[in-house]
This record gives sequence, structure tokens and C-alpha cells, in this order.
Amino acid sequence: MAKKRNGYDYGECEVCNSHMKEEFINQDFWIRGKLLVVENVPAGVCPNCGEKIVRGDVGLRIGELLEDSKLIAKAKRISVPTIEFRTKPAAA
Ligand SMILES: [Zn+2]
Repeated sequence: MAKKRNGYDYGECEVCNSHMKEEFINQDFWIRGKLLVVENVPAGVCPNCGEKIVRGDVGLRIGELLEDSKLIAKAKRISVPTIEFRTKPAAA
């Protein structure tokens, strides 16, 4: 495990081999049909193609947070626009 003083080294992107940068992202999850957002998740983000990875321990912690019903009950709510997929009208 390569650790640097200023953040974790995520290594190279598996998709395009660019060097991943650490960023704090908002990650969305669908849990039992409900949308939940976890803010400020430390993740490696590829500056080239946008691929994201999270460390194993961060992933485990997210799993714990998503199971924390008290935390979720108290969480702030946001409303998001929801649209239904529709095919393009056929050209006349
Ligand atoms: Zn990439």
C-alpha cells in the first residue's frame, strides 16, 4: 500500500492509465428503491476519463453509513428533478 503524506495514492486509471487524483465526491446510491447521496467521499478520480475508485476501507465505511438508519432519518433532504425516459418522436 503506497501512502503519501498529502493523501492516498490511487495509482493509474485502469481505463486510460492517467494518474488518478484524490477528490471528494458526492456518490449516489439506490437503497431499497430510495435514492441516497453520500457527500464528500474521498475517491480517486481520473482527470482524463472521469473513472472513479474508492479505497476498500472507504467502501466498507460507506456500507456502514448506508445501514445507519438513525443517521439517515436525521439527514437533510434534497429534491431532485425526475424525468421519464422517452424515445425521440419519429421524424415526419
Ligand atoms: Zn482514465
